[in-house]
Amino acid sequence: MERKLMKTATVLAVRAWNPATFREIDLHMPGCDMSKWDQTQHMKCKVDSFTYRDYTPSGWDAETQTCTLFINAGHDGPGSRWVKALQPGDNLSYMVASSHEQPVSNKRLVFLGDETAIGHFFALQQLAGAGTAISGAVAIAEQHHRDEFSEYFSRLGLAALHKDGEYRALEDWVVDLNAGDPSDAVFYLAGYSPAIARLRRLLKSKGYGGSQIRAQGFWN
Ligand SMILES: Cc1cc2nc3c(=O)[nH]c(=O)nc-3n(C[C@H](O)[C@H](O)[C@H](O)COP(=O)(O)OP(=O)(O)OC[C@H]3O[C@@H](n4cnc5c(N)ncnc54)[C@H](O)[C@@H]3O)c2cc1C
Repeated sequence: MERKLMKTATVLAVRAWNPATFREIDLHMPGCDMSKWDQTQHMKCKVDSFTYRDYTPSGWDAETQTCTLFINAGHDGPGSRWVKALQPGDNLSYMVASSHEQPVSNKRLVFLGDETAIGHFFALQQLAGAGTAISGAVAIAEQHHRDEFSEYFSRLGLAALHKDGEYRALEDWVVDLNAGDPSDAVFYLAGYSPAIARLRRLLKSKGYGGSQIRAQGFWN
């Protein structure tokens, strides 16, 4: 069954951030029709025998059938170990499915999450297209990763905040949020499930309606 469902991608390049607990993986995915992607997607990757983990393709190019994964590998788990071993030229087995998230047009998009959501936010930005107003913040544990994120991805317009276990800096960012016209904003939350649930409650306490908050817990 696995052989029928899973496709094969090839690793084109691996870029490790410093320290190497966060990696960008460029993939070639022959036979994958990305032209139909109108929502964020996730790749269920085989990381060990009968073991699968989800990662978000971003920066995809339907013509060349390539994309980039941004993977946090600072913890001990089969997915982390797998990504740290990936080298250019390696093949990987995957299956793509929709994550059922898309940018709401003519709204201000606000992205809030952790390192695992960086690919998801890039994917939303790609779907939203140029000219969409985007703001928000990403909680990142490593100071040097925050520096790299701010230096190389300033075009995303997101602040890089210190990540502690409680995601306090992200919560403070929401508390200090200058609401402007609240009905104009749609929030996309993704990452550590308990923190995402707290951010959701905080936004609701500030008067944002449920339809304005799109929350996805990525890990527990
Ligand atoms: C739809 C979707 C899209 C996702 N996209 C991405 C993505 O693009 N990039 C990405 O990095 N992750 C992404 N994730 C999250 C990723 O699938 C999980 O973090 C996964 O648990 C990692 O597997 P693992 O085998 O390394 O750790 P697991 O075996 O699942 O967990 C081992 C231990 O590590 C902890 N842990 C798991 N993940 C993390 C983490 N990120 N940081 C700190 N501790 C952790 C767990 O709590 C557990 O204690 C996505 C998840 C979903 C559901």
